[in-house]
Amino acid sequence: MTVDSTKTLCPYCGVGCGLEVSPSAQSGNTVGELGQSAWKVRGDRAHPSSQGMVCVKGATVAEALNRDRLLYPMVRDSLDEEFRRVSWDQALALITSRIQTVRSTHGADGVCMYGSGQLQTEDYYIAQKLLKGCLGTNNFDSNSRLCMSSAVAGYVQSLGSDGPPCCYEDLDLTDCVFLIGANTAECHTIIHNRLQKHHKKNRAVKMVVVDPRRTKTAEDADLHLAIHPGTDIDLLNGIAHLLLRWGCLDTHFVAAHTTGFSEFAEVTQYYSPDVVSERCGISVSDLETAARWWADSNRVLSLWSMGVNQSSEGTAKVRAIINLHLMTGQIGKPGAGPFSLTGQPNAMGGRETGGLCNLLPGYRHVKFPEQR
Ligand code: SF4
Repeated sequence: MTVDSTKTLCPYCGVGCGLEVSPSAQSGNTVGELGQSAWKVRGDRAHPSSQGMVCVKGATVAEALNRDRLLYPMVRDSLDEEFRRVSWDQALALITSRIQTVRSTHGADGVCMYGSGQLQTEDYYIAQKLLKGCLGTNNFDSNSRLCMSSAVAGYVQSLGSDGPPCCYEDLDLTDCVFLIGANTAECHTIIHNRLQKHHKKNRAVKMVVVDPRRTKTAEDADLHLAIHPGTDIDLLNGIAHLLLRWGCLDTHFVAAHTTGFSEFAEVTQYYSPDVVSERCGISVSDLETAARWWADSNRVLSLWSMGVNQSSEGTAKVRAIINLHLMTGQIGKPGAGPFSLTGQPNAMGGRETGGLCNLLPGYRHVKFPEQR
């Protein structure tokens, strides 16, 4: 009997690479060390984010299938008892009866659910619908609350919505990659592979990496800005200062799509090259090079991850990145925009479907009656 391969996703990082997993019946693999079938994994060429590529973590994902998998519902009445197997009907009856008891004694807000970026978009929607639409509580939250909260807040404060205005095709179209607080070579490997391919093929494409450490990602850059930890806003506003000084603005975009520009411009006056150079620990010349590449590129794509999101003043840093895009009109066009990289494959799908206690599907907010 021939069994077709199954398409699935790698669960290990925010790229969410497409995989094809073949069972042993088809692949002819040997028997695994625990006496179960080994599985063959390869990249799914049709997948939009990974295009058939897969890193060593994804390639070995099947090794986890043989170990400690929960195959059926298990229950115990107290923590000092052993688990015992029950049927699905028994498990569902137990869950619903416990929820009903809690609701009747503590009200709807006595119940909560916590999800993660490992849920599929459809599952996310159903889960938050169960809590918010059926059980009557907003107590559904997820890893987005901890992992990339700053990106969420930064997007909402700057753009009015937590929908990153970029996509994976932008990686292949940009003229200038600005990586800050992201070690893509080791943490988002396939994104880095795509960027490197594009960079090597098009020598005019510039790659700037902002990171206090000389990471593998920094080694692949045209310019590595090894700023002192915590000086990201100085650097970003320092670039804005130079762009303003050089008159490198998209004045039409600023007039048509932004508010508060003059206040922002006033703030940037405090970030002269000498001040920024001193605070960040980089040369004025390197600062000017970064600003010049930003000014001269038709399409600038900034990518950031937990080095920005999970740091003090993370939201302000995200806003400072987005401000650079807004003042230069580097947003809403192919190859350009502020692109936050998530830690888990479907954290973004969760946010789209209302997977936070303050959200409803479609980036709507629970506190606005007109959006409910
Ligand atoms: S890049 Fe991330 S999603 Fe892709 S295979 Fe590697 S760990 Fe998995």
